[in-house]
Amino acid sequence: MAADRLLLRYRDGALQLSGQAEAAVVGLWERREAGQLNDAQFKALAAGVIAAANARAVTLADLALSAVLTAELGKVIPPLGLLPTDDGPRLAAAIPTLLDRAAGLALPGAAAAERATAERAMVARMARSEPLDAASATFQRGMQRRRVPGWTRGTGPKPCPLCTSLADGAVLSPSTPMARHKGCSCYQIPTERTPR
Ligand SMILES: [Zn+2]
Repeated sequence: MAADRLLLRYRDGALQLSGQAEAAVVGLWERREAGQLNDAQFKALAAGVIAAANARAVTLADLALSAVLTAELGKVIPPLGLLPTDDGPRLAAAIPTLLDRAAGLALPGAAAAERATAERAMVARMARSEPLDAASATFQRGMQRRRVPGWTRGTGPKPCPLCTSLADGAVLSPSTPMARHKGCSCYQIPTERTPR
């Protein structure tokens, strides 16, 4: 398969992991709302779901880069075997902070339902963006390790105006991280060209 099609499969695979993590965490959230899980249980389970999605995203990005380079170079380039970091404790610590921030967003006296909606949206956004962040960071790390000369930006399926404007074909160095917003599904396209 051509490298550009492999990259699109990789992008869509990362989006799939992101969507699965979001759906699973929203499901846990609803169980919490229904009184089936307490805060501690929700926190532990949600952190576990997101950490697992991140681990899969790391492997996906490693495999995708090796597949793309294999296609481009016409010889087998094995994966680097990049390992996920243990995201569980970081995520478990981040979730209560997130909930506090969401609670802070609610206006004084706002209905509990409004606050719950804000919390749910923030937790969903975290679950959605974490695997995309993990994939993007791993792909970047892989390009650095492999000394890929440069990369250009490819956008997500429905890019925002900022991402569209950033995908101008400019070649960037693998040491330059890709500018991303939360939930951004843009991806790096390795190139033989070097930054100007
Ligand atoms: Zn983007």
